[in-house]
Amino acid sequence: MRLIKLVSNLGYGSQKDVRAMIRDERLTTRAGVPLGVEARADHADILLDGKPLDPPQGIVLMLNKPCGYTCSTNDPGLTVYSLLPPRFILRKPVVATVGRLDRDSSGLLLLTDDGQFLHHVISPRRAIAKTYEVTLARPLRGDEAEVFASGTLMLRSEAEPLLPAQFEAKGNLSACVTITEGRYHQVRRMFAAVGNHVETLRRTRIGGLTLDGLEEGLWRPLGTDEIEAVT
Ligand code: URA
Repeated sequence: MRLIKLVSNLGYGSQKDVRAMIRDERLTTRAGVPLGVEARADHADILLDGKPLDPPQGIVLMLNKPCGYTCSTNDPGLTVYSLLPPRFILRKPVVATVGRLDRDSSGLLLLTDDGQFLHHVISPRRAIAKTYEVTLARPLRGDEAEVFASGTLMLRSEAEPLLPAQFEAKGNLSACVTITEGRYHQVRRMFAAVGNHVETLRRTRIGGLTLDGLEEGLWRPLGTDEIEAVT
């Protein structure tokens, strides 16, 4: 693929923007040789402002989502996409969230341009475990572990009971819950079903992947081993 198209498809700018980057010698080989308009350099050998380009496909990002941001692309308010460089929604295919976290939830959120990976992670058939830390409005009753593990818990207006989930109390007003489904507002509704109310909800794990010290509001690409750890 021609250099202009390649860089533009990665979302770094329009074809006109990329022409300007070439003119300004911002695109070089790893050896520091400026690339010309007609160059057909190998993706792995191209640097923009001295940094390697994003992978052409199969990118997975993790974001430590703060509360107050939605996972929507067309919300007029704050969205998680505003926490990423614009190139991730300008690239083709775009980077989309892998499932969602509510506006008022925080923690581990994945984004990818890889439809197969996305489908794999959210598919109920794959039963990938997701762990949430919650704080609660009312003291625990004591039977939450049993009720959540039962496989018989029904949520309002749902036809099927929830699959068994793990519950671990962390105190009187806090707990960890691990689920393998992704129903709408599932964790909040599970606590509502046992007479409680979730005050704060933070996702800490998806499969074998944790936030690993990533600060709130920040993102980074996952390495191959980390991508494999998710599934
Ligand atoms: N369950 C919820 O209720 N909200 C989330 O954001 C994720 C899981």
